[in-house]
Amino acid sequence: MTPIFYHPLQQVAHRFISVQKIPEFVRQAGRKPVEFQPYRVEDFEAAHSPAYVKGILSCTLKNGFGTLDPEINQALHYSNASLGAAVQFTLDHGGVACSASQGFHHAHYDNCYGYCTFNGLVIAARSALERVEKVLIIDGDAHHGDGTDDCLQRLNLQNRIINVSRRGFEKIGRPEHSRFSATQWEQYADGLIRRYSPGLVIYQAGADAWDKDPYEAGYLSFDALGARDQGIFASAKAHNLPLVWNLAGGYADPMQKTIDIHLQTLAFSDQYV
Ligand SMILES: [Zn+2]
Repeated sequence: MTPIFYHPLQQVAHRFISVQKIPEFVRQAGRKPVEFQPYRVEDFEAAHSPAYVKGILSCTLKNGFGTLDPEINQALHYSNASLGAAVQFTLDHGGVACSASQGFHHAHYDNCYGYCTFNGLVIAARSALERVEKVLIIDGDAHHGDGTDDCLQRLNLQNRIINVSRRGFEKIGRPEHSRFSATQWEQYADGLIRRYSPGLVIYQAGADAWDKDPYEAGYLSFDALGARDQGIFASAKAHNLPLVWNLAGGYADPMQKTIDIHLQTLAFSDQYV
């Protein structure tokens, strides 16, 4: 079974699906989550300017929800660390792990929007660079990981942390991708792995790529989302690469539709542990 990294202190009262769906996904996954230590201030500085980190944590700069809520700030120490802990686990043990987290890829080096405050992708990938030469991020969220690109450029890490997202050279979400079988997704991921030779894959299994997602950026049917997951997991396994996946966007109402997409990812993930 895929281990799920989740801490109860990730939970806050904020009424938004990206916050509320996470504990519900963990509950429905039906396994005891792995807990971990929260990030400290210096961990956030691995992706962001110290002034920005200080502004957010002192509630003088608005977070990615556009609020000055200290409870959300507290939860950020745990949601970001969830991905970091899952990365360290897979580097130790190989295989696949799930981080029950989201809210990262619009967080820029010194600003934020779009429900993202700190870029847990960049922080976790950067921590992995002490142990592997390169990290490949396959960002399957239906929106562009512009914050990730910005952090990597500002930190001059774009040659060691490869960000494949909705825009850019390697762009995921081309018109033909909506018709891809699991085998074609596997070939797509194989191509990326051969080109970049990463030692770790971080896969954002974004559920807003669903073609019925209300944010209307989606391009994959429910079954096609499963094919994407299956192909990416199969490719990482064939290359014996550790892979960590997390939840990312997904805004369907009722929330259960989005959770079903994440549970489908989990079911395929369990086949490749
Ligand atoms: Zn999105």
